[in-house]
Amino acid sequence: MKNLDRRTFIKQGGVIATVFALPLSFNPSIENKEMTEKKHFDVIIIGGSYAGLATAMALGRALRNVLIIDSGKPCNRQTPHSHNFLTQDGKTPKEISLIAKQQVLAYNTITFFDGFGTKGLKTKNGFEVQTESGDTFSATKLVFATGIKDIMLSIIGFSECWGISVLHCPYCHGYEVKNEKTGILGNGENGFEFSKLISNWTKDLTLFTNGASTLTIEQIARLEKHDIKIVEKEIEELEHINGNLKKIIFKDGTKTSIKAIYTRLPFEQNCSISEQLGCELTEDGYLKVDAFQKTTTKGVFACGDNVTRMRTVANAIAMGTTTGMTVNKELVEESF
Ligand SMILES: Cc1cc2nc3c(=O)[nH]c(=O)nc-3n(C[C@H](O)[C@H](O)[C@H](O)COP(=O)(O)OP(=O)(O)OC[C@H]3O[C@@H](n4cnc5c(N)ncnc54)[C@H](O)[C@@H]3O)c2cc1C
Repeated sequence: MKNLDRRTFIKQGGVIATVFALPLSFNPSIENKEMTEKKHFDVIIIGGSYAGLATAMALGRALRNVLIIDSGKPCNRQTPHSHNFLTQDGKTPKEISLIAKQQVLAYNTITFFDGFGTKGLKTKNGFEVQTESGDTFSATKLVFATGIKDIMLSIIGFSECWGISVLHCPYCHGYEVKNEKTGILGNGENGFEFSKLISNWTKDLTLFTNGASTLTIEQIARLEKHDIKIVEKEIEELEHINGNLKKIIFKDGTKTSIKAIYTRLPFEQNCSISEQLGCELTEDGYLKVDAFQKTTTKGVFACGDNVTRMRTVANAIAMGTTTGMTVNKELVEESF
């Protein structure tokens, strides 16, 4: 399947129907001969998940030559089912990105390169990007759709449960664990606010502060008023089966059963090229963009999780579409 010419493949029986019949290991990346023939593009998009593919679709429809460089590690890859995205509710993350990739690569001016962008520099005509594999590409405009890297907590079992029963967002996964015995792993203002929000989905809620509480007296009183329990014991391990939580084991040897835990993790940017090009970050560590997804470096754009805490597939795609339209407008303005 990998050697099949892209256009021949698309001709065979309709994209959507075909995608769902495909094995998930199918990788619709471009063929290398196309890569070696063409090294300068209108736009390079680093990151080929939801935000990057949405940017590419808008640009492909605007007849732009686009290179997508993607290392294939979207942040939701461990999640069994993705929710809250219209038309694709309950699909696996891979199913959604696979159909997106197929639809985007149906535009002949779009090229997909499996690889990791490591270096970027400003040139006379735009930008140059180097990949880990040693390839170099150039483009007039550059888009970062690179997402963020969640930094896992050093609790045994935590990373195995991430995205399965340790959750970041109730809108994505809360319905599936509604009314279940649920924990919040957090402290202080964040822990309080998250507990308040999650009390909408379950009344069997405990805030695990994993050490001495930093809640205020008022916050404790409000949590108690809503029957939200507070446990300050330090956590040793999350006992689980294939990422599905069974028990929290505390450092003092005691245990409690639990169905799901919500937590907000620290993060860092996935890609250092934006920093190399002088793109500024917000105080919270997101790439700073304006309403049109322009970063603080001229000619460089960013969209998706790397610019916002409103972290959903729908939002990443909306921002990607805006980015594609803005980039094309800028190219039109510069050449007209
Ligand atoms: C565990 C979890 C579960 C989630 N569940 C849901 C859900 O059910 N519903 C929902 O709507 N949202 C969900 N989300 C949020 C959603 O997954 C994100 O908002 C969305 O993936 C963001 O898309 P993105 O394209 O910005 O980034 P990502 O999807 O994270 O993709 C970034 C891409 O950039 C690539 N990349 C990064 N740096 C480089 C580089 N230097 N060179 C090349 N490629 C690079 C990565 O490999 C990756 O493919 C979930 C998030 C998490 C963490």
